Amino acid sequence: MKPRLSYDQFVRRRIKHLHYVLAAVYILLGLRLFHLQVILAPHFRELADGHTIKIPLLARRGTIYDRDGKKLALSIDAYDIFADPTMVKNKASVAKRLAPMVGWSEEGLMKLFQRKGRFAYILRHAEVPLWRKIEAEHLPGIAAIPSMKRVYPGGTLAAHILGFTDVDGKGIEGLEKAFNDELGGRDGYVIAEVDARGKIIPGTRRDRLEPIQGKDLVLTIDSTLQHRLEMELAKSYSDHAAVGASAVVIDPKTGQILALANMPTFDPNHVDQSNANSRRDRAVTDIYEPGSTLKTITAAAGLNEKVIDLDDTFYCRGSMRIGRRTVNCSLHAPFMGGHGACNVAKVLKYSCNMGAAQIGFRLGSEKLFAYEKAFGLYEKPGSELPGEMRGMCDRWQDWPQVRLANIAFGQGIAVTPLQLAKAYSAVANGGLMMKPYIVKEIRRTDGTAEVVKGPVLVRRVITEETSAVVAEALHGVVAGGTGKTAQVEGYKVCGKTGSAQTAGVGGYSGGKFIASFVGFLPLTDPRAVILVAVDGPKGTHWGATVAAPVFQQVAKEAMWRMKVAPDGLPKPAAPVARERKTTEHAEEEGSEDNPQLGG
Ligand SMILES: [Zn+2]
Repeated sequence: MKPRLSYDQFVRRRIKHLHYVLAAVYILLGLRLFHLQVILAPHFRELADGHTIKIPLLARRGTIYDRDGKKLALSIDAYDIFADPTMVKNKASVAKRLAPMVGWSEEGLMKLFQRKGRFAYILRHAEVPLWRKIEAEHLPGIAAIPSMKRVYPGGTLAAHILGFTDVDGKGIEGLEKAFNDELGGRDGYVIAEVDARGKIIPGTRRDRLEPIQGKDLVLTIDSTLQHRLEMELAKSYSDHAAVGASAVVIDPKTGQILALANMPTFDPNHVDQSNANSRRDRAVTDIYEPGSTLKTITAAAGLNEKVIDLDDTFYCRGSMRIGRRTVNCSLHAPFMGGHGACNVAKVLKYSCNMGAAQIGFRLGSEKLFAYEKAFGLYEKPGSELPGEMRGMCDRWQDWPQVRLANIAFGQGIAVTPLQLAKAYSAVANGGLMMKPYIVKEIRRTDGTAEVVKGPVLVRRVITEETSAVVAEALHGVVAGGTGKTAQVEGYKVCGKTGSAQTAGVGGYSGGKFIASFVGFLPLTDPRAVILVAVDGPKGTHWGATVAAPVFQQVAKEAMWRMKVAPDGLPKPAAPVARERKTTEHAEEEGSEDNPQLGG
């Protein structure tokens, strides 16, 4: 039997025990602290960072409107669907259920699920209802982050004007490119501390950068007219099995581009299904030889410089020798022997090369070049559409006589359709040339205007008097010359046909023609300049057959859209009997213009 301990002994022994226990605890704590502070420190630092997350606040890209407020391009809410392959447990089952919804093959998804890493896109810019459907399946490892999808409700409508964005929403063609900074805005973010379940902890530090929403663009484009132009251009393009086609409609008083189209075209909603050729904005970026449509510029220059007057006549025998070269006129019955004596109005009416050449000689190279320059043919039009080109020609100092003759009737010079439409708008607008423009307003998200763009006068090119005389002569072309197929009932139409070689890189791509028609109406107060150029039509290459009918239909629509009062006589109900048929016929049968090969 153990001796009974006194109370003191008992207490002392317990204290001693306690010391041992406490010492052990301190040692353990010390070890733990060392472990935490030294060995596990990097791990904890990482864990702390993991509890701060950056949430993107997406800026919505601005909307593009037509002149009447119709939406041509807009951004809608969407989701970027992705997989975290490490979280996809039953890969085969997930692939099987997901594949039909996202348009992937099961094998494709299986491969994606085998990938290393924790993030792989499955579908970008998926529309909201699709993601909701997938979300409802509760597939492990399949998630989504908010994004925006760019949509073009008109499909191919104004495709070359609008352009498109890349997968990250950056504009890479058309106005989407030219105004990317304004449309795009800037994404913002929130940095916040979250708990283990990913919920933001209230009251903790947050960094927040507000997104800057994209601005809207309001265009000068009239969607209805644009649609009509595209329909008519597509028809001519397919009827004549052409290589390409372009058309521009400009309001000559303001420079507003009312419509602009090209063939072939594409749908910006499905850029991946198009090729580079169909995406080219030929009206803005492609130069071509204008041919006889340039005679208007030569005639205007001659009249404005007063080197010719309305009564001066130029004789055409059908061809002309210049040095060792022979330059020909394009002749049709009844002018097989040449156009004879032509004043400037007849030079335009029958598109006489000899007459235009002689006007060129009277002007001389320096002056003809100076007028072409004044008409804007050697400068970029300034429309803000991307990819604008300058016209091309040799230095006037280097023009031999035969080159001067050729250039006077539109050969050996290359311009873009937009440039030539701009030049004609100066003739239509009393000699004043306006800068073409397509964006008339940049709007903030609240609908207020940040920038309002109005008409800009480039310069006076010719006098009001010259402009009136040239317009009247161009009316003669449509009333009774080569441009009869451009007539619009009730309106006095002015215009000029052309048929010329296309200018390829490094020279003309021999044998290929561009059939064109440029004009405006109504004569008394021109409201629309319309240019139509069809590249490489098969069977015929006359502007009167291929391009003027497009002009006619579009001109009619433009007058209707702009509510322009007719200035001409309505079409007679029945054909008027002609008494002096032979002579009338002789007068009416105009020759078409024919490009000079080797001129
Ligand atoms: Zn002639």
